[in-house]
Amino acid sequence: MVRNVGRYAPSPTGPLHFGSLIAAVASFCHTRSQGGLWHLRIDDLDTPRVVPGADRAIRETLAGFGLRHDGPVLYQSDRRAAYADAVKRLRGASYAFDCGCTRREAQSGSAGLEGPIYPGTCREGLPAGRSARSVRLRVAAGVIEICDRFQGRYAQDLATDIGDFVIRRADGITAYQLATVLDDAEQGVTEVIRGADLLSSSPRQVWLHRCLGLPVPVYGHVPVIVDAAGEKLGKSTGALALDPTQRQAQLVECLSLLGQAPPASLIARSVGSVIDWAVDNWAPDHVPRRTRCRRRPPPGQL
Ligand code: GLU
Repeated sequence: MVRNVGRYAPSPTGPLHFGSLIAAVASFCHTRSQGGLWHLRIDDLDTPRVVPGADRAIRETLAGFGLRHDGPVLYQSDRRAAYADAVKRLRGASYAFDCGCTRREAQSGSAGLEGPIYPGTCREGLPAGRSARSVRLRVAAGVIEICDRFQGRYAQDLATDIGDFVIRRADGITAYQLATVLDDAEQGVTEVIRGADLLSSSPRQVWLHRCLGLPVPVYGHVPVIVDAAGEKLGKSTGALALDPTQRQAQLVECLSLLGQAPPASLIARSVGSVIDWAVDNWAPDHVPRRTRCRRRPPPGQL
């Protein structure tokens, strides 16, 4: 029997906040409700953005909320050799190519979903006199479709929506898209449950899985929490900090936002009991089929 394997992959750029907790809770419950393993990965590749000690704080916060992972924690900073090897293989197989364009030059193409489409300048080889800055993955025309566990069908034509994308940045850092695909495969992840801000990355990741001959996981993207003004709750937004004295209430709030209708009485129980209830009663079909959802202000702050 193939066992489900899920994961949570925070970036250690600050403490875990309410917006990240909801994705962690969804991933944990979804995996555990099927008796699966749940792994933790620390996405610490983007060194300029990494905050020293944030990884430890995130791990402690997850444990405090009863979200216990299986096995060793995978740090992306320990995986550089595997990433370099994959870039070499992709270049060797002509899936990837060296790009000598500056950021400005690369952005001179037509509009795509996440910015301009790469104009193809270095696609057939570096123009004379240019040297490699980044490495890009060549995309093929044709629709890539995912059947998202919560959002339903999502499709992109990478050629017209995204373009040839960077897998190794000009600063030498492996791009998120490649690192996440290699690590999901390394940890045997079968289900990627995360925030809907990453939904549009999934077709690129499916393409990378295919180029590398790796099994494609199932994807599920839960709504990203936005405030009353419709702004995504990110680390830069205030009023997001998790309160270690109110763990049950915050878990119950996450579960409500995930459509799980937790009984209010859970708040008076232990953190472990709330998590057990959430796993036992996890109803994936009740997760809202929306990419954003609003956090209601707590009573007293209305
Ligand atoms: N590290 C990414 C983030 O914190 C998540 C990566 C993923 O779940 O694929 O946004």
